[in-house]
Amino acid sequence: MPYDLVVIGSGPGGYVCAIRAAQLGLKTAVVEKDKTFGGTCLNVGCIPSKALLYASELFEEAGHKFAAMGIGVPAPKLDLARMMKFKDEGVEGNVKGVDFLFKKNKVDTFQGTGRVAGAGKVEVTGADGKKQTLDTKNIVIATGSDVARLNGVDIDEKRIVSSTGALTLGAVPKKLLVIGAGVIGLELGSVWRRLGAEVEVIEFLDRILPGMDSEVARQFQRILEKQGIKFRLAHKVTGVDSKGKTLKASVQPAAGGKSEIVEADVVLVSIGRVPYSEGLGLKEAGVALDDKGRVKVDGHFRTSVPGVFAIGDVIAGPMLAHKAEDEGIAAAEIIAGQAGHVNYDAIPNVIYTYPEVATVGRSEDELKQAGVAYKAGKFPFTANGRAKVNKTSEGFVKILADAKSDRVLGVHIVGADAGTLIGEVTLAMEFGAAAEDIARTCHAHPTLSEAVKEAALAVDGRPIHM
Ligand SMILES: Cc1cc2nc3c(=O)[nH]c(=O)nc-3n(C[C@H](O)[C@H](O)[C@H](O)COP(=O)(O)OP(=O)(O)OC[C@H]3O[C@@H](n4cnc5c(N)ncnc54)[C@H](O)[C@@H]3O)c2cc1C
Repeated sequence: MPYDLVVIGSGPGGYVCAIRAAQLGLKTAVVEKDKTFGGTCLNVGCIPSKALLYASELFEEAGHKFAAMGIGVPAPKLDLARMMKFKDEGVEGNVKGVDFLFKKNKVDTFQGTGRVAGAGKVEVTGADGKKQTLDTKNIVIATGSDVARLNGVDIDEKRIVSSTGALTLGAVPKKLLVIGAGVIGLELGSVWRRLGAEVEVIEFLDRILPGMDSEVARQFQRILEKQGIKFRLAHKVTGVDSKGKTLKASVQPAAGGKSEIVEADVVLVSIGRVPYSEGLGLKEAGVALDDKGRVKVDGHFRTSVPGVFAIGDVIAGPMLAHKAEDEGIAAAEIIAGQAGHVNYDAIPNVIYTYPEVATVGRSEDELKQAGVAYKAGKFPFTANGRAKVNKTSEGFVKILADAKSDRVLGVHIVGADAGTLIGEVTLAMEFGAAAEDIARTCHAHPTLSEAVKEAALAVDGRPIHM
């Protein structure tokens, strides 16, 4: 009997799609080429990076913050191998969890590389080269993304690393050169800076975090600089010479000009990710791609071939695990005849550094560019009681609301626990809330969330504690 659905790829998009489809009674299978389930996110992305961010943050706190609170401990000693084990245990637990959920929901799994062999057919090639063909009514392509490469910089995952190699370094580099001031570069740069590396970030643009609210990016850069991370903006790396004991990167102004050599022990290439749409037989099957190699889909995740859908990093939109998950759920529901939907106006984006950065909706730059009349309410954590007493008062909450209707259009937070605080405003936006709705919602005292309420009050010019 054919499957109702075969999902290619078991990342957050694919595995969530398969589980939702099974819940809806569809006979479902997943094809995964890697040894473990969970995709980039669980194996070499969100989960291991957050484990190292968490452990390195505590290491830093023990070394620099305990004494001020009256906690006397000897200077912490780094056992990097144990820290890596802590990370690996976390990954293993999560990966096993997906395996358990597949079994619980009776999702069949096939280890091998999947290829769309035409509508209704997925060919699976196992590690031993053996092929089998699965018949299915529907296919979901959830093959995710891969590291973007840089000309002249050959990644060996030992000294010249992508995020994957940066998660498994065997020793703390004396100097780490990060190419690209995006989320991944800043998160992993923070990890190794906390563990003792000198970190310099080279960014082609004249700002960090391209695409994010520029006020947030400016303040965040100042905070990271205070922590010791060096930035060289509007510069590019044109090559890395790996012949000697130290790496020699050629760094040039982005606009061209005199090249300079920057030496480092490890170079991290973090200039973005590219969709993983090769080797899937998409061209032969007639599945159309866009100019960036992403699978083209309509508002219902349908590709140009009937019965073939695509979700997650392999299609357009922010490359985020929760975006992939929500698309997985929506696609499964659409395939089952329901009305699945993703609200792209309310997808949060979090940087898990200290402090965290979290945003949802539109940036002030976007609103200005689009000529939207808006009001901004801003509240600094220096005026929040809990942040003050905890001495975690860096950053602010900024709420942007429509000038006429007061509807919340975007929220931007730099601060401790910003990633948790963004949940409340994402829900508010999902419900089409006005800033006044947030301002009139009772927030527990003393919590950092009171800064969200105060920023909402500030939209109307009436914050209490400022
Ligand atoms: C270092 C790092 C940190 C990150 N941190 C975060 C974070 O904190 N929060 C967040 O939201 N996002 C984060 N991301 C991004 C997140 O990992 C991705 O957005 C997410 O994994 C995309 O999910 P996906 O299901 O589309 O694809 P993926 O997770 O990439 O999964 C795709 C799967 O498909 C498999 N596959 C590919 N081709 C085939 C084939 N032909 N046959 C069979 N299987 C195939 C792959 O092996 C893989 O398992 C991070 C990424 C990195 C690299």
